[in-house]
Amino acid sequence: MKKHIVLLPGDGIGPEVTKAAKGVLETIAEQFGHSFTFETHEIGGAAIDNQGTPLPEDTVAACKKADGILLGAVGGPKWDQLPSHMRPEKGLLGIRKQLGLFANLRPVKGFKSLLHASPLKEEVVAGSDLLIVRELTGGLYFGEPRERRNNGAEVVDTLAYTRAEMERIIDKAFQSAQVRRNHLTSVDKANVLESSRMWREVVEEKKQDYPDVHVEHMLVDAAAMKLVTNPAYFDVIVTENMFGDILSDEASVLTGSLGMLPSASIRQDGLGLYEPVHGSAPDIAGQNKANPLAAILSAAMMLRHSFQMNGEAELIEAAVNKVLEEKYHTADLNLTDGVQVSGSVLAKKVSEQM
Ligand code: ATP
Ligand code: MG
Repeated sequence: MKKHIVLLPGDGIGPEVTKAAKGVLETIAEQFGHSFTFETHEIGGAAIDNQGTPLPEDTVAACKKADGILLGAVGGPKWDQLPSHMRPEKGLLGIRKQLGLFANLRPVKGFKSLLHASPLKEEVVAGSDLLIVRELTGGLYFGEPRERRNNGAEVVDTLAYTRAEMERIIDKAFQSAQVRRNHLTSVDKANVLESSRMWREVVEEKKQDYPDVHVEHMLVDAAAMKLVTNPAYFDVIVTENMFGDILSDEASVLTGSLGMLPSASIRQDGLGLYEPVHGSAPDIAGQNKANPLAAILSAAMMLRHSFQMNGEAELIEAAVNKVLEEKYHTADLNLTDGVQVSGSVLAKKVSEQM
């Protein structure tokens, strides 16, 4: 198959981990006889420095024509003092919005060989394998008005959703549950928020279309607790933008390192932007220390969700698992046993296992 991939390396460790993921994709192309073409564009701080904007027009145009987009990370202290519309993060929020990438998928899996790397007890983390489906283009992040009033004595943010926005993300979550373990937990705050009460209505309507999925409602505070006391309980979690942001960061402790977590932001027609959950990690940038596995696993998600290449995705995931079982790891995993290697060596080990 022919696929055109846009690379957005971004800032900090973004370029290192993107390069690692590209290498693994090239190995896949070779082994399966696919033809992947790559095109690199700027976003975030790099784009601010070179083009005066966090989201250049040619970047948006290239992404619109791509089959899949792989992003490294954006941001860093260098750009923290800029006015908010000029910050690197605006590039990321902007591209998601402009492409209509409304569904953020974050799988969290406790790799067996890393159970002891989690700050949680091994027996708590064991068996956890969940997917958080977070709504990405609505809610508090985009609602208007958002302003200071009364000379700064008052402030307002707005949590707004249309029914259609709820329907499409909830559909996506039911469909995700169908190809996993058929268990969907819808998370809200329906005892307080009107938006959550409508969310529950939509879930109740939609469940008629997916009779094979067992669905339940859970308040966000209860879900936050259960995630760290009994994570193996969950299969797919679906929730609105802000709750999803918080719960997915919380869930990241199950894996032992931010450097292990992939994510996807997709839309219904399959176009998606794939990126590691971690940020630009300026403290270790350029030192070949960054864990490339989150970016590599993000590339695997691209194969699965945008290209329908399930076998290829599984091969990458199995190779990552194998490398971890052989106890190769980067410094962030904080392991006392095994062999600590650089980011590029770890990426090469993954390709060798494929
Ligand atoms: P952002 O605002 O972009 O989310 P952040 O400061 O919240 O940034 P990160 O940039 O992800 O978060 O960094 C948090 C910590 O985790 C840093 O100490 C960083 O070095 C470490 N870290 C993040 N990603 C990786 C990685 N892939 N490999 C190794 N260490 C990492
Ligand atoms: Mg962060």
